[in-house]
Amino acid sequence: MLQDLDFGRLENEFRNINAEPDDLILCFHQGQVLLSRGSDDALTLPTLAQLAAEKMPAAPRYVFRMRERDYFLWTDAAPVPPEGFGFEPARQLRQLKSKDICFAILTGWHLYNWYRANRLCGCCGTPTEHDSKERMLRCPNCGNMIFPRISPAVIVAVTNGDRLLLSKYAGRAYTRYALLAGYAEIGETIEQTVHREVMEEVGLRVKNLRYYKSQPWGVDGNLLMGFYCDVDGSDAIHIDETELSMADWYPRSALPAHDDGISLTREMIRVFEEGKEPT
Ligand SMILES: [Zn+2]
Repeated sequence: MLQDLDFGRLENEFRNINAEPDDLILCFHQGQVLLSRGSDDALTLPTLAQLAAEKMPAAPRYVFRMRERDYFLWTDAAPVPPEGFGFEPARQLRQLKSKDICFAILTGWHLYNWYRANRLCGCCGTPTEHDSKERMLRCPNCGNMIFPRISPAVIVAVTNGDRLLLSKYAGRAYTRYALLAGYAEIGETIEQTVHREVMEEVGLRVKNLRYYKSQPWGVDGNLLMGFYCDVDGSDAIHIDETELSMADWYPRSALPAHDDGISLTREMIRVFEEGKEPT
């Protein structure tokens, strides 16, 4: 999966430090990110020195550390791209080559959107201030404390003996086969989310929920939690046509989707294909 990095983990602990010239900068502008593509298509982020050769910008904000490099968010107006760099759409960047840079971009994008959406206090409208000890915004007027928003959601692989339920979304750019998915609602456990989403999307009852793994998915600010479960009773599918364009049972030996090394959904399909899902 995208977050499985060969050198270890993204070090997300908060630090209150300033950017140095060699630090890497995540610079977002209108849904795009500033990067360079090498001749082998490998991605590179600019350093502070490359972006701010002539003037010191508004202080970049520290976000995380990876492979012994510190990453910062650009907070100034969009710079003129340095030689060899250009802006590219941030949401689509999920290539296996430069996996670490793609994960940094999607995680930085999550934080960028959160900072941008909370410049003012939602309770009283006062400009918020950055806390110095943790990743938190605080309202100096009413004391409102705002922490990064992470939305829990489920990915559900419904099994029926040797068959797996695959579906396709309705009305979305993503047209490949998917597992069922949905956000947790207020007042329910994550297990109840699984039962509700499966019933809403395909009209099936399920049992024997088995948790598999989770995946941070910064594109949409999610923490995805993957579950396998068995159909309980009738396996007749009734799709919610506002959510799905199709859903059907596919045999383990002939699944029309394969692991892309990036998403939890596709890893779960591959694990079922290999007969290694938790039982
Ligand atoms: Zn306030």
